[in-house]
Amino acid sequence: MNKNRKEHLKNVKRIVVKVGTSTLTHSTGLLNLNRIENLVRQLSDVHNRGIEVILVSSGAIGAGIGKLGLKEKPKTIPQKQAAAAVGQGILLHMYEKLFSEYGKIAAQILLTREDISDRTRFLNATNTFYALLEQGVIPIVNENDAIVVDEIKFGDNDTLSAMVASLVNADLLVLLTDIDGLYDSNPKTNPDAKFIHYVDNITDEIVGAAGDTGSSLGTGGMITKINAGKIATSSGSSMIIVNGDAPNVLNDILDGKEIGTFFKATAHPLQAKKHWMAFGTKPSGNITIDNGAEKALIENHKSLLPKGIVSISGTFSEGEVISILNTKNEEIGHGIINYNSSDINTIKGLDSSEIEEKLGYKNYDVVIHANNLVTLK
Ligand code: GLU
Repeated sequence: MNKNRKEHLKNVKRIVVKVGTSTLTHSTGLLNLNRIENLVRQLSDVHNRGIEVILVSSGAIGAGIGKLGLKEKPKTIPQKQAAAAVGQGILLHMYEKLFSEYGKIAAQILLTREDISDRTRFLNATNTFYALLEQGVIPIVNENDAIVVDEIKFGDNDTLSAMVASLVNADLLVLLTDIDGLYDSNPKTNPDAKFIHYVDNITDEIVGAAGDTGSSLGTGGMITKINAGKIATSSGSSMIIVNGDAPNVLNDILDGKEIGTFFKATAHPLQAKKHWMAFGTKPSGNITIDNGAEKALIENHKSLLPKGIVSISGTFSEGEVISILNTKNEEIGHGIINYNSSDINTIKGLDSSEIEEKLGYKNYDVVIHANNLVTLK
């Protein structure tokens, strides 16, 4: 096991480190200065090793709650946003001050889901990250909580950090949290729970093991971390869930010490555009396809033809990403659609040779080309 892990970690050149609210704040909501100082010192030291570092930091809402003296997490959206607006400034002030002490330059990047789901904005964000990394800057990322509302949020920084890891092509994503890693059942309720050191592949069993453990001030639980694992590992980044409390945890990880739960990057990462289609986008509608088309897509990696389409829902334009469902209503993939929803309604179930006659034009024989399609099963 140990050997395996060392092998994967020996060539790490770029890491994304995500730190949760429960690690950064005391139960009072005020900043845990010891932990923050220790974190910045470690990140600076990792940077000194010649490894590029991106920090995804939660804690804006938590720090805002502390500063505003609120007794509990705010419930309404404007209150949460106000807390985030206050807290994000406090966080950045602290990071900037501490990174400067170690001679490092920090930068703030606040992202929204739309910065990821819109392909142009996604590519722009990638360019910004690369420009910063090239100049030796340490980007500090959070969701733009003061602006976005719940319906369009990532909602948790586990998912956000995994998207960032794929966006910057990181070799490793480290989730620093207040638990040691993943157990085969909930250790708080089952004293016989066994610790899992190494995950080769995120199976249904691993998802089951994640249960519903969570923390009081943060948003994510183990499930969001496992989902982050799916996003990260399929993009070619390994992931570690580890207790952020240890004084030298990042160097220990990079030295291959067997701490936390390690999720191995897949040997065949999804091509960048397909990864974005699978995890970055918010599909604008659904297309249900028949069993024959499902087989053609999944087993034979074929394009989707109008003939295989049973029904559609939602309104979408040509070029948008839509979700593909099978007859059991299970999502089997995402793809970029060649016709708008009203045209699809007209040509569904037909032979491609009939498209022109029905629509008065034909730009493509296929509704979704195999190159623009990613299967999720
Ligand atoms: N973006 C939120 C914050 O900074 C945290 C989300 C999370 O806890 O994952 O407060």
